[in-house]
Amino acid sequence: MADWIIGALCALLVSVAAYRKQSLSKSGMAAAFVMGTVYYGAGDIFWFGILLLFFVTSSLFSKLRGDRKRELEKSYAKSGRRDAVQVFANGGLGMLACIGHAIWPHEAWSYLFIGFMAGATADTWATEWGGLSKRPPRSVLTWKRLPAGTSGGVSRLGSLAGLAGAVMIGGAAWVFYLWGQGAGLNDLFEQVLGVVQFNRSNETLLFWKWIMVGGISGFAGAFIDSLLGASLQKMYRCTVCGKSVEVAVHCDQPTKPERGIRWMNNDVVNLLSLLGAGAIAWGLGVLL
Ligand SMILES: [Zn+2]
Repeated sequence: MADWIIGALCALLVSVAAYRKQSLSKSGMAAAFVMGTVYYGAGDIFWFGILLLFFVTSSLFSKLRGDRKRELEKSYAKSGRRDAVQVFANGGLGMLACIGHAIWPHEAWSYLFIGFMAGATADTWATEWGGLSKRPPRSVLTWKRLPAGTSGGVSRLGSLAGLAGAVMIGGAAWVFYLWGQGAGLNDLFEQVLGVVQFNRSNETLLFWKWIMVGGISGFAGAFIDSLLGASLQKMYRCTVCGKSVEVAVHCDQPTKPERGIRWMNNDVVNLLSLLGAGAIAWGLGVLL
């Protein structure tokens, strides 16, 4: 019971702060509160810490050079202020894994969860940093240059950022796992030192395992997202400015369908890529 109260208090603090900083809408704030409470109440610091890390870094990066992004964001379905749907799109699968773990404890849930979160982090970091790339992105399918902000476009900066985000989640999984096992700051510091010195303790090997699980699954998830974005995702063409966009209204006018499957919107693409990342992380976790 105490865990649920601590979780609710921490979640309240974070979601209200994010609302005030304009990172969340009102519905986004409510969703983040529920999610954070469950992550700590049904889970522990491992689950809550990873969620918080994803959330804080994504919110920070979405503020990067806001003006230019705001222009780009008009062609995305997302905007800087995340609503409940977007909060659940990124953290909902992780919440299900957390609840699954509480009901039927098994390490497979943790791998699945790290895959979901590494995928969400890689995709968000890649989108935010890729939006700052000076060179236009290339289509992940045809390798042709695309206008900035197009679904399915990848840039070197965005890809590197995505990989970095995925690796960070893997490293954080290791830290929060040891922490959850009762390691104090001193122990953690010693374990990090062990990793730097390449010693062959069980903890160091575990570090590399989590790095592989998070890094590979997250990067693969972001790649699947781009691949689906370039192929099956429903896209529209703006009748005013002629841009290819994800949204039904652009330049204050309804857009025309261009390609893709009717129900394959940005949220569905997101969900499928996270499921892919989760499956890959699960497989790696069991194999390695
Ligand atoms: Zn337009």
